[in-house]
Amino acid sequence: MTTPILIVGAGPTGLALAIGLEKHNVPFRIIEQNEAPGSTSRAIAIHARTLEFYRQFGLAEQLTEAGIVEDAIHIHKDKKEVGRIPLGDMGRGITPYPYLLSLAQDVHESILVEYLSSKGIEIEWQSSLESFEDKGDHVEAVIDSQGMRSASSFQYICGADGAHSTVRHQLELDFPGGTYSQMFFVADVENTRPFKGMSAGFQGSEFNLAVNIRTSGTVRLIGVIPPHLMDPDPPETFTPLIPHVESVLPVKVGTINWYSYYKVHHRVAESFKVGRAFILGDAAHIHSPAGGQGMNTGIRDAFNLAWITLSDGDNYSPLASVDWQLHVYGRLNAKIKALSDRSGLPLHHTPWTKAIKGSTIISP
Ligand SMILES: Cc1cc2nc3c(=O)[nH]c(=O)nc-3n(C[C@H](O)[C@H](O)[C@H](O)COP(=O)(O)OP(=O)(O)OC[C@H]3O[C@@H](n4cnc5c(N)ncnc54)[C@H](O)[C@@H]3O)c2cc1C
Repeated sequence: MTTPILIVGAGPTGLALAIGLEKHNVPFRIIEQNEAPGSTSRAIAIHARTLEFYRQFGLAEQLTEAGIVEDAIHIHKDKKEVGRIPLGDMGRGITPYPYLLSLAQDVHESILVEYLSSKGIEIEWQSSLESFEDKGDHVEAVIDSQGMRSASSFQYICGADGAHSTVRHQLELDFPGGTYSQMFFVADVENTRPFKGMSAGFQGSEFNLAVNIRTSGTVRLIGVIPPHLMDPDPPETFTPLIPHVESVLPVKVGTINWYSYYKVHHRVAESFKVGRAFILGDAAHIHSPAGGQGMNTGIRDAFNLAWITLSDGDNYSPLASVDWQLHVYGRLNAKIKALSDRSGLPLHHTPWTKAIKGSTIISP
C-alpha cells in the first residue's frame, strides 16, 4: 500500500502539517534535507490566530510559556514615545491570546519536533527530495536519504520546502512578485536598557522595530538601512548602524549576537496545487517582514490542509478535488503587498504609519 502523504521540509509549515495529519490519523512521511532542526532565531512573531490553531493540539500554552508575551506596541517618533497600540485591550474577548508572542523560530521548531516525537513520529533528517513524477493515480518520489537513493510511492506530495521549493520548481510554476527597493537589516543584540512591549520607531521616513527575544536582555532589531549608510553597499558589520538605531528606538546596544542585511521579496505562486502535488508556506508565498506574516501564514496553510484531509475518509479523494487555492492563507497578504507596490505605495507609507508620524495615534 502506498503511504498517503509525503511532506517535504520540516520547517514550521511542514512540522505543522505533520502535527495536523497525526491528529487526524492520516499516515505520512516527513523528510528534511538538514540533519537537525534550525538553530537560528529567524521568525520571532507568533500571532493570536496561529496560537488558536495550536490550541487544538495543546501546544498554545507550552509555546506561550517558552516565549515573551508582548501585549502592547509602543510607538516612538525620534525616540520619544508618541503612542501605544494596546494589543491586550484590543484583543480581549476576541481571542484567548490577545498578544503577540515573541519566540525564536529555533525554539518554536524544537517544541513542534518534541511534540511529534511524543506521538511516535520521527522526522527523516538528511533526506532530501530529488524529484517526483505524478503518475495520475499516485506520485513517485526519488529521495536521497543519507546518500542512499530510492523511489517511493505516495498518494500526494506536499511541498513545505521553503522559498526555493523543489516541488514548486518541478511543477514549473511561476512565482511572480517583486523585490522592495529598500535594503533591510536584522540583528539580535544585547540591550542594556530593557524595555517592555514591542517598540516601533519612526524618524523621517525610516521605520525600525525592536522586540524582546529569548530573554529580556536580548532584542531583535529590524529596519530599513538609511540611504546615508549605504556606500553604495550596506555596512558589513552592525557597528555603523548603532547610532542610527539608538536615535530611533529606546535601546542601548551591547554585544551584537548576529547581524545580516537583505532585500525583501513578495511573491505568490501562480497555483498552489497541480495534480497530486500541493505547495504551502514559503514554497507558495513569501512576504515582507513587516507584520511578521511569513511563518504564521505557512502554519495556517498547514493546519488547513490537514483539516481538509480529515474530511477524506480512507482514500483521501476530497484532497484531490478541493480548491486548495481558496485555503492558502498567505495568498491574499502577499497579493496586497504586491498591489501596494504596483500603486507606488512605499512599504512604510501605510495610513496608520502616516498617522503615527503625525502623532495622531493613541496617546501613550
Ligand atoms: C531573519 C528572518 C526573520 C524573519 N522574521 C519573521 C517573523 O517575525 N514572522 C514571520 O512570520 N516570518 C518571519 N520570517 C520568515 C519565516 O522564517 C519563514 O516564513 C518561515 O521559516 C517559512 O516556513 P516554511 O516551513 O514554509 O519554510 P522554511 O522555514 O524555509 O522550511 C523549509 C524546509 O524545507 C527543507 N527543504 C528544502 N528543500 C528540501 C528538499 N528538496 N528535500 C527536503 N527538505 C527540503 C529546508 O531545509 C527547510 O528546513 C523571517 C525570516 C528570516 C530569514
